[in-house]
Amino acid sequence: MTMTTNTTVSNRALAIKPSSTLAITARVRALKAEGRDIIGFGAGEPDFGTPDRVRDAAIDAIRAGMTRYVPVPGTPEAREAVAAKLQNDNDIACTPDQIVISNGGKFSLYLAMQAMLDPGDEVVMATPAWVSYKPMVELAGGTFVEIPTTADSGFLATPQQYADAITPRTRAVILNSPSNPCGTMYDPDAIRGICDAIAPHDRVMLISDEIYERLVYAGRTHLSPASLPSMRDRTITINGLSKAFAATGWRVGYTCAPQPIAKAMARLQSQMTSSVTSFTLPALVTALTECSDDIERMRTAFEARATLMESLVSAWPGVTCPPPMGAFYVFPDISAAFGRTSPGGASITDAGTFAEGLLEETGVAVVPGDDFLGCGPNHVRLSFALDEAAIEAGCGRIAAWLEGLH
Ligand code: PMP
Ligand code: GLU
Repeated sequence: MTMTTNTTVSNRALAIKPSSTLAITARVRALKAEGRDIIGFGAGEPDFGTPDRVRDAAIDAIRAGMTRYVPVPGTPEAREAVAAKLQNDNDIACTPDQIVISNGGKFSLYLAMQAMLDPGDEVVMATPAWVSYKPMVELAGGTFVEIPTTADSGFLATPQQYADAITPRTRAVILNSPSNPCGTMYDPDAIRGICDAIAPHDRVMLISDEIYERLVYAGRTHLSPASLPSMRDRTITINGLSKAFAATGWRVGYTCAPQPIAKAMARLQSQMTSSVTSFTLPALVTALTECSDDIERMRTAFEARATLMESLVSAWPGVTCPPPMGAFYVFPDISAAFGRTSPGGASITDAGTFAEGLLEETGVAVVPGDDFLGCGPNHVRLSFALDEAAIEAGCGRIAAWLEGLH
């Protein structure tokens, strides 16, 4: 008798594309391992190390025997530290029982969608937007509704556009300010305007992804929607250690949600991952309570890089790009290159062939904008999470390659 293995995968798995940002990161890693001279503007992760104090707190916790299961939403100390951070830094009135700590901001967002959406529910978001929101909405049975924006408006939508996108089926609006991939952000008045547009719709919740909140430049301020009294019971705030604390591999994110939603997220988490890794929790407390100087050191470095990027990108022939305001991304429009031929003879027809030609011919990695939706197909994303010498060298290679298009 022959044994057969049925390796057919589910329709759900078939329908999901792999994350293109992580795919580029993996490609850069593989090319570097082959010894290629690659300058990677692909990965959306800080190049700094996690602050020593945070590492030490985890090591101390392991040595102290914190190696067992912990409460599903996190230890009381960690949930208290997150609630205190949100109260002190973001002016969000909240209690520890509204906090759920999860395996990365990405899983926090996934749980939020799973906890809130039923089939047919719509989730509204301005695009271009980070690659994972739409798949997460769809995995929860929802429909992702785009508000397309363009570079002219800094990729920002108006309160009226949000109001117009809301229908009786809308369950949530997602905000991600500062934005991945756009590098732009809403000012506090714009946030207030968007919240006013949502306010009349009782059923609509706001999911505010504030993972880049600490990385804002030129004196800009970030306003957390949940700090507005009208939005306190309507907002799910998501954040985590990855970006501000240069801790992408730790997989620590957190959510502050109205209690019923926080409870539902914890219930789901109890059947999915049980909790975050135990010894990251004291490290999270240390990060949130003792590391403001580390955060500021990294923010200042990113700010200088943002200025450098802006000046270098603005000199690229045929390319337009709003200046970076926050996060560590620029999202230039490179569509003037479509229909032309690269110095190495490749036909540039879209953002994918642009990124591929650039990588093959110059060793510079960028992310094609297609999966960020909206006008994304006309753009590529560059993450400036690399040192200034590498930024100058990489942007120089891009400039020379663009000059050679014919
Ligand atoms: N939101 C946005 C906009 C992001 O860019 C990222 C980065 N991957 C995340 C959430 C999630 O980050 P993490 O899972 O590493 O906390
Ligand atoms: N958020 C980062 C990026 O956009 C990390 C990869 C991911 O999770 O998408 O590149």
